[in-house]
Amino acid sequence: MNALTHYKLANQQIRYSFINVLTGSDLSSRRLALMAAKSKNDGPGVWLTGCVHGEEVGGIAIVQEIFKKLKKEPLLQGAVYAFPLMNPMGFEIVSRSIGVSSDDLNRTFPGNPKGSLAERIADKVFTTIMGTNPALVLDLHNDWTQSIPYTLIDPYPGAEHKEAYEKVKEYAEQTGFVVINEQEEADDRDDLKRTLSGSLLLKNVPAITLELGEAYVVNEQNVEEGVKAIWNILMRLGMVNPSEQTMDYSIPAELRGKILHYSHQPVSSASGIIRFKVKPGQLVKKEQPIAKIYNVFGKLEQTLVADRDGIVLGHADSSVALPGEPIVSFGFI
Ligand SMILES: [Zn+2]
Repeated sequence: MNALTHYKLANQQIRYSFINVLTGSDLSSRRLALMAAKSKNDGPGVWLTGCVHGEEVGGIAIVQEIFKKLKKEPLLQGAVYAFPLMNPMGFEIVSRSIGVSSDDLNRTFPGNPKGSLAERIADKVFTTIMGTNPALVLDLHNDWTQSIPYTLIDPYPGAEHKEAYEKVKEYAEQTGFVVINEQEEADDRDDLKRTLSGSLLLKNVPAITLELGEAYVVNEQNVEEGVKAIWNILMRLGMVNPSEQTMDYSIPAELRGKILHYSHQPVSSASGIIRFKVKPGQLVKKEQPIAKIYNVFGKLEQTLVADRDGIVLGHADSSVALPGEPIVSFGFI
């Protein structure tokens, strides 16, 4: 680990450094940037991780904004760590995978030092995080272009991890976003294990995924919302001054404190052009039309209606409908 920058304030140190992950055939090194802000007072360690999927760039900007804030308002206690860019090779070619292979880095956790390249990177990330005995890990992702920020929690990992899972639910609520559970219980332990958040949970480390709007381009509004959500959690942990920020919940009052279930049903059963009838963030009632699919002559082929009451999280990046393709994603009550 070699330090790049070192800021020293009276009660806090900020250090930017690298972790080597790979030496290239030209002997260049691929490294992961590591950021750390440490208070001189002991306290919880919180991790921010960004860009595990190379095209999900918003988290990098959020990490940068958090550290800018920490330079002005040093931590009262504890430490904030960040891997702002976990997948630099994917980032540079704007790819979800790690670039040199089609592996999804977020399906290779907790990694393996003797495994595939993705597993080796995952192992470096995972062991570094675990080495700090973290209180919480916030993994920053992006979703469809037209989507609202929401908080994703893992399926219930079983009684032996209940304590960490209770904390996950508590922190998730503090983000102020809609809280979504992809599945109530993991039907396959391996599913849970392969993601960063799931692997951490199985080590009893509370971890949450924040889906903060669109991928590819940094959306300033979503950066602002992400920073607020993270700052609110740091505030509630007593790590930053509670003075300035009051949380403004971006979700309808009736959804606060609830855990919703994710669904992108109904999917299309026709081919054609999609005309969306709902907007991200909109509340929907069961049987409400959500999209219409027309054939090339403008004849209506299908009207999709909501399965249940819920909120629209986002809609597809394109208006091309093919049978079986997801069109709208929901959080259902
Ligand atoms: Zn992602």
